Amino acid sequence: MTRFFIALGGNLGDVASNFRSARHCMAQLPGGDILQSSRLYRTPPLGPPGQPDYYNAALSLACELDALALLDALQGIEAAHGRIRGERWGARTLDLDILAMDAAVVETDRLSLPHPQLQFRQFVLRPLCDIAPNWQHPRLHKTAAELLDALLTRGEAALPKGVAW
Ligand code: ATP
Ligand code: CA
Ligand code: CA
Repeated sequence: MTRFFIALGGNLGDVASNFRSARHCMAQLPGGDILQSSRLYRTPPLGPPGQPDYYNAALSLACELDALALLDALQGIEAAHGRIRGERWGARTLDLDILAMDAAVVETDRLSLPHPQLQFRQFVLRPLCDIAPNWQHPRLHKTAAELLDALLTRGEAALPKGVAW
């Protein structure tokens, strides 16, 4: 059984409801078990201007699928929640990214693990720190807590405290 960290994001529709529904779908995957869920954070949008604020969360998932099969499954869950692929970083109902698969390093056309932007994004690191502050990035050799600290030390404003969902 492998432990994955999954990032959830969205800024259209009832995002918290979509997140709960997506979490339920992930729990139904082969061997699926939601180990922990972060709080839910409201974050300013990245990408095209004029979009509504984003909501972000993370969870840890035990599951029997390999990483590519999980990516397929997550894309199916996104589609089932009305995700339409348009402009890069454009508004969306649900985005599910695989942040990491324990300490694995994967580099294929369809999948990079750990997620290549993870260390630059407070909206990813903040929720990840709720559930796995001691997870160690296998390339950068820093924990999630250390990566978040590095962003804050560089002067980025800390996100407001998250809420349960
Ligand atoms: P970003 O990856 O910068 O957060 P995004 O989530 O908006 O952007 P998408 O359009 O959802 O990007 O995904 C583009 C492609 O990224 C997917 O089709 C997938 O093949 C690829 N991808 C690579 N690594 C990962 C990963 N770790 N998790 C999810 N998708 C990934
Ligand atoms: Ca993403
Ligand atoms: Ca994505």
